[in-house]
Amino acid sequence: MIIARSATELRDALKGKNGSIGFVPTMGALHIGHRSLIEAARGNNDTVVVSIFVNPTQFLPGEDLSKYPRREEADFKICELSGVDILFYPDVQAMYGEDEVRITAPDVRGYILEGVSRPGHFDGVLTVVMKLLNLVRPTRAYFGKKDAQQLALIAQMVENLFMDVEIVPMETVREKDGLALSSRNVYLSGEERTEALKLSAALKCSTNMVMQGTLEVTEIQKAMMDILAPLEVEYTAIVNRRFESLSRVLIGDTIVLVAARVGSTRLIDNVWM
Ligand code: AMP
Repeated sequence: MIIARSATELRDALKGKNGSIGFVPTMGALHIGHRSLIEAARGNNDTVVVSIFVNPTQFLPGEDLSKYPRREEADFKICELSGVDILFYPDVQAMYGEDEVRITAPDVRGYILEGVSRPGHFDGVLTVVMKLLNLVRPTRAYFGKKDAQQLALIAQMVENLFMDVEIVPMETVREKDGLALSSRNVYLSGEERTEALKLSAALKCSTNMVMQGTLEVTEIQKAMMDILAPLEVEYTAIVNRRFESLSRVLIGDTIVLVAARVGSTRLIDNVWM
């Protein structure tokens, strides 16, 4: 595995590679969710590139940028064992200069849900993803449905800016008890981890209701809130794949989302139906 720490090193590493390139951008602290993306990339491409970069421009002031988990040695090992060909591991200076051009998220879709709680977050996400896609020039790039709004906005950027890459959405990987894997789960105490299960339980409830024929969004959201109740809920939402609000679930074109704080940790989760 080649470790590239700058744009030049990455371009040099890519020079000898022929065929398709599968790319998995991450912020590190790799878990089985990340590994499922890497395995999909490995299974469908000649070359696999993973990036690990805790992107400062997507964190708002007061968020967890400085304490975001960093696990260099373990991450390198996971990448190596997963058959990654090139690990791109830049520092902030290798990725950003001063007074740069930036990508901005669309006015509506970028400023609802996550965009309300974290205004400007998606500008940072889209900017860094654009930089990474331009550097790696992958055939396919893999993103988790866990970050559903991020995935939708990246797919929109690729479409709007006529970028030549296939965006591959990947299922959310969960612990046996339902908790969606997240690098931020390490912040949870034992007690908080139990509380955090309310997010997946609320989503499971929404799925059960729909399976039993309840399609009214207000009814489903009320039942979800009953389950989430003691948590500080930032939002529950039921939208279509374009992130437009729905009054009734449309099977095959619906995403149910939740964001809540468990202690000081902010967690998100969703289910696609
Ligand atoms: P992150 O390192 O959190 O920025 O995530 C890197 C990529 O992994 C993103 O495309 C995420 O959506 C994806 N991802 C994070 N958690 C999971 C999970 N539990 N299952 C599947 N993909 C995930």
